[in-house]
Amino acid sequence: MTLIDTHSHIYDTAFAEDREAVFQRAIEAGIERILLPAIDSQSHEALFELCRRHPDHCRPMMGLHPTSVNEMEDYQAELNLVEHLLRESPKGRFCAVGEVGLDFYWSSDRKQEQTEVFRRQIELALELDLPLAIHTRNAWEEMLSTLESYRNQGLRGVMHAFSGTEEIYRQLKQWGDFLFGIGGVVTYKKSEIAALLPHMSPEDLVLETDSPYLPPVPYRGKRNESSYVRIVCDKVAEIYRLAPETIAEYTTRNAIRMFGL
Ligand SMILES: [Zn+2]
Repeated sequence: MTLIDTHSHIYDTAFAEDREAVFQRAIEAGIERILLPAIDSQSHEALFELCRRHPDHCRPMMGLHPTSVNEMEDYQAELNLVEHLLRESPKGRFCAVGEVGLDFYWSSDRKQEQTEVFRRQIELALELDLPLAIHTRNAWEEMLSTLESYRNQGLRGVMHAFSGTEEIYRQLKQWGDFLFGIGGVVTYKKSEIAALLPHMSPEDLVLETDSPYLPPVPYRGKRNESSYVRIVCDKVAEIYRLAPETIAEYTTRNAIRMFGL
């Protein structure tokens, strides 16, 4: 069984002590590819280093995370750097524009700034023909109105850690080529995404961990890692009453197609 972790931050300092061991465990668990969304320039070097070390298994994305727009005074310089890296790197270096989006959970003081940064990154993705890895937290209304203005213009990407409704799922599928990222949250008790999955096609999904965040049961409260994609795959298979191999096949095929792997 071949799996792809489409969203993992194993370049994060949470893995400073044992990153190689974590990487090897993922490979042994059948996680053949690990896609690495960027956050901001503070972690670019760690991200690039991991990709240099494991070019056959790790692929970088490039983008400015919405929470960094909140936290950084010079977020405009950060956005310029993202644009520079995306434009000036050889075609195919970055597999997506990510991680980008809207997050008003911590603060909504910079709603407008986050939205402008997101829009510019959507436009870059459209221009460079790259998929987006989209983060949405406490921002569905603004997310939909932003994406609607680009509908049917070649929009494509993954709604990372999807937390929307069936209506939002159907709407997004009309506006562009979207896949939906499923991670450890699907294993939680009273998980809304677990309840929603039967209303979504198993052929519209990709698997992810968001390591080091959001670990699946039985690792809640601990550090997440890419090898746990296997647990997510088993849970999704159980919900659909399909074989884990079938879910692995759908989601791996989707990730290869979407990210051009
Ligand atoms: Zn992330």
